[in-house]
Amino acid sequence: MISLENKVVLITGASSGFGEDAAWFFSAEGCKLVLAARRIDRLQTLVSRIQDEGGEAIAIPMDITNADDIENMVQSAVALYDRIDILFNNAGIGRVDWFENHTPERDIDLLIRVNLIGLMQVTRSVLPQMLEQGNGHIINMASVAGLISPPLIASYSASKFGVRAFTDALRREVAPLGIKVSGIYPGPASTEFGEHIGRSEAYGSIRSRIRMRMSSEYVARRVVDVAKRPRRSLVIPWWFRIVTIFDMLFPVVVDWITYIFSKFKHKLE
Ligand code: NDP
Repeated sequence: MISLENKVVLITGASSGFGEDAAWFFSAEGCKLVLAARRIDRLQTLVSRIQDEGGEAIAIPMDITNADDIENMVQSAVALYDRIDILFNNAGIGRVDWFENHTPERDIDLLIRVNLIGLMQVTRSVLPQMLEQGNGHIINMASVAGLISPPLIASYSASKFGVRAFTDALRREVAPLGIKVSGIYPGPASTEFGEHIGRSEAYGSIRSRIRMRMSSEYVARRVVDVAKRPRRSLVIPWWFRIVTIFDMLFPVVVDWITYIFSKFKHKLE
């Protein structure tokens, strides 16, 4: 098990949800934190609370779709701490609706730019520093939607499949250079995510049916576990792995099940 004491951890999307909770757990391990997101007021409150508890953290305003913001975030982290040991690529947005209702600007273009291109750009900016150090750990937040493609989240699922492909390819590139790359694949969890995904009739009616949601703290704790005991991927809860294997082995059966779901849902709306 790796000690995280004094490790420098850069977290994107640290203003709420998994990112915010992971900041607390990394801080409890003795890490120095660089916390980035757009809502700087939320980040500053988090930083003050972490400092009150004896931790070390800074807040950096960053819109992941802005290349200058990304560069500024990485340069600020390196200028202050001279290194980045762990990058938790976590910022993300979603959309739950029939694909014909997805807007080209927000639900396709912006979503892909935040979830996939932003994550890749941040990684591209951090990588030279890790290569110079000869070590580092990149932890990418994907989703079970990066392993299976259910109806109603076509754009989101496409972005997270992209994250998985990028994560696996990068791991295979940089492993010989001392850099670890992990993918996190959670199922539904209780965060502010649902408030940021754009309301839709389709979302409203399935939200109440998703009963088994993990807590944000649980997911964040597992992310910190991955930093302590690096592994290629983590699917949570574990039984989603069985669902993804079933999907891989019997795609026609899954098509049939989702056909019934979609037909029934179209009828209800
Ligand atoms: P939250 O909405 O609570 O957190 C999302 C974070 O992303 C916020 O800190 C937000 O900060 C940041 N963010 C969004 N857009 C941008 C942007 N343009 N630039 C910089 N930061 C941005 O949701 P979660 O904690 O649930 O989501 C975190 C990750 O987990 C996402 O990648 C999501 O896809 C993934 N995930 C979530 C699941 C869930 O059920 N909740 C399940 C599986 C994966 P700000 O608005 O301040 O910029």
